Amino acid sequence: MANLSSLFLFLLFLLPLKNLASLSPHPAYDEPTTCTVNPIRPTTSTTSDSVPRGTQILDITHPYRVGGMPTCPSSDGLGQFLWLHESMANGSVHNMSELRMVVHSGTHVDAPGHMYQEYFEGGYDVDSLDLQVLNGPALLVDVPRDKNITAEVMESLHIPRGVQRVIFRTLNTDRKLMWKRECDSSFVGFMKDGAQWLVDNTDIKLVGVDYLSVAAFDDLIPAHLVFLKSREIIIVEALKLDGVEPGIYSLHCLPLRLVGAEGSPIRCILIK
Ligand SMILES: [Zn+2]
Repeated sequence: MANLSSLFLFLLFLLPLKNLASLSPHPAYDEPTTCTVNPIRPTTSTTSDSVPRGTQILDITHPYRVGGMPTCPSSDGLGQFLWLHESMANGSVHNMSELRMVVHSGTHVDAPGHMYQEYFEGGYDVDSLDLQVLNGPALLVDVPRDKNITAEVMESLHIPRGVQRVIFRTLNTDRKLMWKRECDSSFVGFMKDGAQWLVDNTDIKLVGVDYLSVAAFDDLIPAHLVFLKSREIIIVEALKLDGVEPGIYSLHCLPLRLVGAEGSPIRCILIK
């Protein structure tokens, strides 16, 4: 049985994404457990006896690196965000670090209050985000590398209705932009019409991207506004998608419970 399901999954991944359009919603999407396969390589994250054999955990969160991570629009990177406040090397009874950084640093989530003042005042912070949306079956798709995510691109992806979580991998991953210190404003992302097409024509409630902004630089504010207006779509930015195959996964994202904050670092993993 295990071999049969592995074969099915292998064949499924051979299908071009446009073929997924005829399956609405995709049958495997409602049943994430059918996506379990034998590992191709050891898990990249911590496993324990409680993790079923054959389960692969992919950490799609960027590590926070002092001096080695971009923050926009700075060219100096994230810089020193962690200090050893009390140090055993200096005679303290324990080590105690202090953290200080913009909440939109590294892999993070945007809450509706990020772009709408009335939502900020209304308490639509990261603590109000729906964990049901942040956790569940997700589709990872590759988008065309030569353009931003426009309405035309969105249409060409043929994402079936019923799919609620989609991670968009772009040229940003190929260019390893998140591994550079400088903010690179030539990153790609959603144009306003692409965001509007997604809102109007799909059931997507979680949008994941691979750089610090879901929106392309030219449509930075308008595309954010389109996504956040309904307060039903959650944006997860700067995901680490290097080496991850397109396909269906179980996504698990957990932001910090920062009451009053319009963004938060978030730990995201894919389980396959
Ligand atoms: Zn953000």
